[in-house]
Amino acid sequence: MSDKLKFIDTQIDQLKADGVYRKLPVNYGPCDHVINLDGKEVINLSSNNYLGLANHPRVMEASKAAIDKYGVGAGSVRTIVGNQDLLESLENLLAEFKEEEAVMLFQSGLNCNIGTIQAIVAKGDLIISDALNHASIIDGVRLSKADKAVYKHNDMEDLKRILDEKRNDYNNVLIITDGVFSMDGDLAPLPEIVKLAETYNCLTYVDDAHGSGVLGKSGRGTIDHFGLHGQIDFIVGTLSKAIGVVGGYVATKANVKEWLLHRARPLLFSTALPPAATAATIESVKMLMESEEHTKKLWDNALYFKKNLKALGFDIGISETPITPVMIGAEDKTMKFSQALKEEGVFVSGIVFPTVPKGKGRCRVMISASHTKEDLDKAIKAFESVGKTLNVI
Ligand SMILES: *Cc1c(COP(=O)(O)O)cnc(C)c1O
Repeated sequence: MSDKLKFIDTQIDQLKADGVYRKLPVNYGPCDHVINLDGKEVINLSSNNYLGLANHPRVMEASKAAIDKYGVGAGSVRTIVGNQDLLESLENLLAEFKEEEAVMLFQSGLNCNIGTIQAIVAKGDLIISDALNHASIIDGVRLSKADKAVYKHNDMEDLKRILDEKRNDYNNVLIITDGVFSMDGDLAPLPEIVKLAETYNCLTYVDDAHGSGVLGKSGRGTIDHFGLHGQIDFIVGTLSKAIGVVGGYVATKANVKEWLLHRARPLLFSTALPPAATAATIESVKMLMESEEHTKKLWDNALYFKKNLKALGFDIGISETPITPVMIGAEDKTMKFSQALKEEGVFVSGIVFPTVPKGKGRCRVMISASHTKEDLDKAIKAFESVGKTLNVI
């Protein structure tokens, strides 16, 4: 055996020495409110299945029917023969839902960021990005030929400083931010960003992965929450979180969609979404358009859980969304807390450096509409007991 790959072992040993080595936990069933994780039944407080649509019977039926009609694979990239009519229907439906001119679909939110950013900026342009933007934005920015600048998280003074300093040196300037930041659950100050973009003649790009299906009327997103329809040039959403399936999209103007069709690389070089996923997504979005019951349940659950954790004395950060970071602090204590919760039958992943700053470890609770009152009460009890044992409260 050649030992050409020995360097990988060395790297893995280093992960172990650093205490960041991990194995993948296995979920033996659907992503439900209670799951069998590694053979242990736990209340699932860590999924992005905000509305419980990932295994909703109506969505599953739509998906099965699509398999009967369309098979299981699109068979090609969209630009050749992979553009099944379901994809066109979904794009039209999403444009209507988001109240924007046009929507271009991608295979995931990550693909959407990587494909779109690269296609819309060029050499001679500048991208200004929030310091806490999602990894897929960072990758999209890296793949583009534009220059980059980063402003301090949600700091409009810092954004303005960069604009004052650099705006005149570039052709197009693109300001990119998450709509909802996933680690703290805080929102980007979009009305102020729109104002600055207007003053300095910049394009705006909002990745609303954690806002779509959560904020705004029936989950129309952060742009709807702030009443900014038509004022953001590129609105990215994911179909993998609240919508419960998989996929990503950008809501934008019709001419941008036309351009992406010619230049977005994930669209040109990677096979289209499978029909089962597309049909499931259509059903999910229809359900949101029909009723606010799903988002209402999510918010009721989230507010109930937050109120109780706060009353127990936990620091739950600055979240304005159902994302609830329970701040613990030290890295080892955070992981211990998460482990102890698991022993009590509650799964909440611990999030530590380098995902969040050193000393800012947290157990990040993701509330879902699928949680029952009993689930939440049991989880609150577990937090109380572990919190007291580990001297967090
Ligand atoms: C989750 C997430 C993505 C990736 O979406 P996928 O559809 O899972 O690829 C992109 N951007 C942000 C801000 C996210 O939170």
